[in-house]
Amino acid sequence: MAASGASANDALTAAIDAFTAAGIETPRLDAEVLLAEIAGVDRADLIADRGLTLEPSAARAFSEAVRRRLRREPVAYILGSKGFRQIELAVDRRVLIPRPETEMLVELALEVRPRSALEVGTGSGAIALALADELPRCRVTATDVSDGAIEAAVSNATRLGLSGRVEFLLGSLPEGPEDFDLVLANLPYVPDSDGLPPEVGQWEPEGALFGGPDGTEVIAAVLKAMNENGIGAPTIGLEIGQGQGERVSVLLREAGWPETEVRLDLAGIDRVVVGRRPRPDMIEE
Ligand code: GLN
Repeated sequence: MAASGASANDALTAAIDAFTAAGIETPRLDAEVLLAEIAGVDRADLIADRGLTLEPSAARAFSEAVRRRLRREPVAYILGSKGFRQIELAVDRRVLIPRPETEMLVELALEVRPRSALEVGTGSGAIALALADELPRCRVTATDVSDGAIEAAVSNATRLGLSGRVEFLLGSLPEGPEDFDLVLANLPYVPDSDGLPPEVGQWEPEGALFGGPDGTEVIAAVLKAMNENGIGAPTIGLEIGQGQGERVSVLLREAGWPETEVRLDLAGIDRVVVGRRPRPDMIEE
């Protein structure tokens, strides 16, 4: 037998120790996810197979990944991808990393079953592409003011074989007037003064995070622009942050969605506000 490579278990233990010392929140999980991906094995096998050895190239790649993680670069940027619903998105510093709680907006779409949907501020394309993937009859339009984000989203669409299904537009909104069955948006909503973990604050795009002094400035501006441009929808779903449910509900009611509902995420935090307006043809005489 050829000389055996480095022990995967030793590399893992060293990485976990270094991550712990650096104050990283989930040291074991991060080390295992990085090593499993780099070694091309399942996380379960990595843990079960104590005798696993690493090829020199894998050992080098893992050291490099550990070095990046110690600078607090998020795991998703190091690996270059992140799962969302049933799809895998390529992600880099041009775009926010899709969060599990954002899947709540896709769940709303599955309830509404729209024939047309607009996503404002698509970033990596996560929401729009998940809609295209899960609602094959829905015509999806997605916008972003960042050209880097639109490039990233378009290339995700191509890679996922969904490019014919979503129209991506650079800018904040389609020109209008245009009616959609559903509008979804995960706009920047972090209050400017909020401290963020280094993974977020030092690595993710500022323009996708901060929403003015109380975090609701971009949301308010988009609702206003929708009305000015004649972009309408009977149902709208907005992602929000802690404590913003009431304020954003008021913004929605003022912008013409009289019925509002705040949904909490698994941590019990205000996460989505849904606004509904009766369709003109459904108003009873
Ligand atoms: N959920 C993100 C965070 O906590 C914020 C995303 C956003 O502003 N849309 O960092």
